[in-house]
Amino acid sequence: MLPLVAIVGRPNVGKSTLFNRLIGERRSIVGDEPGITRDRIYGEANWRTKRFAIVDTGGIVPDDDALIPANILKQAGFAIDAAQAIIWVVDARKGITPLDEELAHLLRSTGKRVLVAANKADAVSLESDAGEFHSFGFADVFAISAEHGNGIGELLDTLEPELQGSSPSVREGGNADETFAAPAKELRLAIVGRPNVGKSSLLNRLLGEERAIVSPVAGTTRDTVDTLLETGGQSFRIIDTAGIRRKGKTEAMAEKLSVVMARKSLERADVAIVVLDAEQGIAALDAAIGGYAVEAGCSIILVLNKWDTIENKDTHTGSAFERKVREQMKFLSWASVVTISALTGQRLQRLLPLAVEARNVRISTSRLNEFFEREITQGSGIMPARPHGGSRLHVQYMTQIGIRPPTFVVFTAGGKAGLHFSFVRHLENRMREEFGFLSTPIRFVERHKSKRRR
Ligand code: GDP
Ligand code: GDP
Repeated sequence: MLPLVAIVGRPNVGKSTLFNRLIGERRSIVGDEPGITRDRIYGEANWRTKRFAIVDTGGIVPDDDALIPANILKQAGFAIDAAQAIIWVVDARKGITPLDEELAHLLRSTGKRVLVAANKADAVSLESDAGEFHSFGFADVFAISAEHGNGIGELLDTLEPELQGSSPSVREGGNADETFAAPAKELRLAIVGRPNVGKSSLLNRLLGEERAIVSPVAGTTRDTVDTLLETGGQSFRIIDTAGIRRKGKTEAMAEKLSVVMARKSLERADVAIVVLDAEQGIAALDAAIGGYAVEAGCSIILVLNKWDTIENKDTHTGSAFERKVREQMKFLSWASVVTISALTGQRLQRLLPLAVEARNVRISTSRLNEFFEREITQGSGIMPARPHGGSRLHVQYMTQIGIRPPTFVVFTAGGKAGLHFSFVRHLENRMREEFGFLSTPIRFVERHKSKRRR
């Protein structure tokens, strides 16, 4: 893994301008919807012989939240924790603000090396203004202009020696290429759901887990930050961690954003954690998001969050809720349902093991053949299709060709191609009984061998 540098600061000081300058690209800010357009937050830069990664925390923390410095540390905490050094951007023109003072205090508490970049010092006359920022007690204060490039060289010269070795939270022996190579056996999780169901709260809890090692990595698109979470010997990649925290300004925009994020993350995910609100019940948007998860071929865990808000629970309350959820999301009958509270942490520890279980099913050929022999050849009496011109479609054998999701080719011959849906449904049900396939969709592909004409 590359050493990581986090850029922090209150809104509008020039964090993203500096970020672009460091990665050597011009970001085009299109449109005026924050959140959607502002998502290029992870990049890589070179200085002299060093290569390092940069995270713009301004893209993680919504502007409103950034007005409370503690929120910056909370929401961008995973990036700050994994960073070897922090560039704290302040505005040389505005001078010290109360927000800066609070932030300075919090940054000091991280124990990280903090470089202060007094930005917008475009003219020499402004450079002296940077002087006042020495009062925070950080040794390194630089007058820079992110827009024009002044002072950046000195900043990087000081940063460079800080970036040796790998950070403590990163596995030993890593190299630069590893950042983009998906390590084997990591399980990719998408946390999706409509606004306010508790996605960010759940994420915070998962990342805050005591024995977890957490480190941000580039998402495959380079526009996103994923988080690698290692616990109990298993790696989980939580897709687009920043996106999970991103909020829309208006309700309509928040909903739109939640769908955009869901579709984007689900594409790359093995397992979808679809968060639902136990207090509010199921909404149309929940079903829509669940539908995208199925389309993407993800294993699905339906998480009924805010379980703490349900009063007078008895032993049947859980199953009654589960039944209701299944009723309202019939197409997800095979998904697992867990009631949790991101607030209290209740049953959260079940989530990751469930995700692991949900995604590792390959049936050995011998077991599959044995099952096939018993169920199809000798068994059920259900016919794959009606007779067609005197010849009947029959299934010859089947084989598993994929595991994400489990996909089977069913070889047929005779009659006319086209397995009857009731046969496929029966096959699926029987296979679920036999092999589990907890939480995961199963796909069947028919391959028909047509009879040679004589
Ligand atoms: P962020 O919210 O901290 O990421 O800030 P931005 O990078 O979006 O910058 C906020 C505003 O400050 C934009 O209008 C930038 O053009 C402006 N800005 C950034 N860097 C400089 C600089 O070096 N000089 C001047 N004059 N303006 C700058
Ligand atoms: P997101 O929009 O899906 O990321 O939702 P948030 O994580 O921001 O949560 C929305 C609101 O629900 C916040 O006020 C949270 O404090 C609250 N919340 C989240 N999880 C729980 C929970 O398990 N129980 C209760 N009572 N409130 C929760």
